[in-house]
Amino acid sequence: MQEIGISVVVPCYDEAEVVGTFHAALTAELELIGEPYEICYVDDGSRDGTAERLRELAVSAPQVRYTSFSRNFGKEAALLAGLRMSRGTAVILMDADLQHPPNLVHRMVELYRRGYDQVVARRDRVGEGIVRTAVSRAYYRLVRRFMDVEVMDGAGDFRLLSRRAVDAVLSLQESKRFSKGLFSWVGFETVSFTYHNVCRAAGRSKWGNRRLIDYGIDGILSFNSRPLRLAIHTGMWLLLSALIYTAWIVIRAVVNGVETPGYATLMAAIVALSGIQLAVLGVIGEYVGRIYHEAKRRPHYVVRETSETASLQLRHTLPFTSATAQTKQ
Ligand code: UDP
Ligand code: MG
Repeated sequence: MQEIGISVVVPCYDEAEVVGTFHAALTAELELIGEPYEICYVDDGSRDGTAERLRELAVSAPQVRYTSFSRNFGKEAALLAGLRMSRGTAVILMDADLQHPPNLVHRMVELYRRGYDQVVARRDRVGEGIVRTAVSRAYYRLVRRFMDVEVMDGAGDFRLLSRRAVDAVLSLQESKRFSKGLFSWVGFETVSFTYHNVCRAAGRSKWGNRRLIDYGIDGILSFNSRPLRLAIHTGMWLLLSALIYTAWIVIRAVVNGVETPGYATLMAAIVALSGIQLAVLGVIGEYVGRIYHEAKRRPHYVVRETSETASLQLRHTLPFTSATAQTKQ
């Protein structure tokens, strides 16, 4: 079999509207490059007929393969499945909504040919809401201080990885995955270039504010235990100030005699300290939760169907209607 030069991994969740256009644009671009390629679509439990669209694409072109999940497992799981499926010597990760312009693929491949293991396309934030831009900027500044790995603002999952980088990423077994950090953690020669932010071609983003915040917290907690360290530091500072304050009260009591009032100070101290304790408990809880999660060792996703199983089914088994009738019983 001819060796595959480029694999493109595309996670899709409810992208039926746009996946056809995306596919046409991407194939045109890949044909121009002239390397043997494959496109690995991952249907992340879509409910809008994305799986059917992918099935059609796979039938129409031998370069198309897909995996379909039994339900929505999230983009991280979809990326992982795509990386596992891929067989190319270079793997490109792209969104299906045309926010990652297919015409940048040839530039990525060019840089890869020059010997880089990771080529990252960073988007600028033109056209994005002011609040969201400001929050993201602040977040990345915070993350840079907190994290052991470097994560760049605007550098998302649009990137090319060489086979050895993919293998390194796949060797990381953790169940709560934060890909941006994992890519940076594996290292290798990395190069990045910036492109203009593009709006979604159709459909809508699946990242509400809540989901973005959760993603942000995941990012910080997956890579180090510095929040715990911060809790220890806060605790020590508080202890120190409490000791100084106590000494002051004792000296005052010795000099002036004992005064009973002090309700306000007491309340303030209790409220502040319990607040801090709860927050710290929350941080510890997050880590314990993660340990629990890892300890269960569940798979990252459950596959309902892949292009391989689908074509086998077509060849060997009962007509589709009776197969569905059987599963209903
Ligand atoms: N996606 C996915 N599973 C999810 C959410 C998103 O596979 O649970 C895919 C989605 O189909 C798209 C990519 O991840 O191809 C980026 O999602 P989206 O465009 O919603 O995110 P945004 O561009 O707004 O960050
Ligand atoms: Mg998008």
